[in-house]
Amino acid sequence: MSILRTLEAGSRYDLRAGLSPDAPDESDVKDEEGSFGYCHSYETSSRYDGPGLRAVLFVSGCLLRCSYCHNPDTWHLKDGTYVSLQQVLDRLGGFAPSLIKLGGGLTISGGEPIVQLAFTRRIFQGAKEMGLHTAIETSGFLGDRVDQAYLSAVDLFLLDIKSSNPDTYRRVTGRDLAPTLRFAERLASLSKPVWVRFTLVPGQTDDPENVEGIARFIAPMKNVEWVEVQPFHKMGEFKWKSLGLEYKLANTEPPAKEVVNRVIEQFRSAGCRAR
Ligand code: SF4
Repeated sequence: MSILRTLEAGSRYDLRAGLSPDAPDESDVKDEEGSFGYCHSYETSSRYDGPGLRAVLFVSGCLLRCSYCHNPDTWHLKDGTYVSLQQVLDRLGGFAPSLIKLGGGLTISGGEPIVQLAFTRRIFQGAKEMGLHTAIETSGFLGDRVDQAYLSAVDLFLLDIKSSNPDTYRRVTGRDLAPTLRFAERLASLSKPVWVRFTLVPGQTDDPENVEGIARFIAPMKNVEWVEVQPFHKMGEFKWKSLGLEYKLANTEPPAKEVVNRVIEQFRSAGCRAR
């Protein structure tokens, strides 16, 4: 049984490891009530994770293993802090009035928030009761698990589409592409607001054909408000080393400005609003 602790404010770039050694495996979460969960950290003033000023909660657990991940310490629940839903909501309640005043809200990122479905659903529902705008950052890999109550509690989906090609997707993430595309189509059919996020990794996702495929897929979707091109960076490299993981991108440099601009232009030419 994990020990309840106090969730410390911090940053996505803090290393958190081994805090809940008795936690279940991330592929086997059986939490139907959502009264407790595992979190990495939270930030109180992000301007990059949705509209306005955001509180961002980074929850633990992810089934993907992206080669460029800057948060490998969120992959396993056992590395996170075991906290109560009430503690999270109490903390959020303290920020809610200023977040509302500044046109922001709550974003839950990770890890993959859908791994702890009931826990994150109840956090979103609590945030909505406070009058906050809510956003989730997700790979969509577990999108089939998302039910109507979850969809109703989330205002914006920051959907990471890492590739349009199943082979590339598997090479970069270790998983299948199909569930992500299926989730994107479902969100489109429900007209749920989406910002697509695309991580531009030299030698892995920067192929013009790869970008073209994503652009063609999302261009007809009227619910996609933005495509955000996120250049690869190495701020999480130290975590891989600390966790004893092999970081295969040690010799990969961030993409040149011209490549970033070329990719943004590719999305724009397909009819997307991109930045
Ligand atoms: S989906 Fe996100 S948290 Fe999971 S491995 Fe990929 S980059 Fe890391």
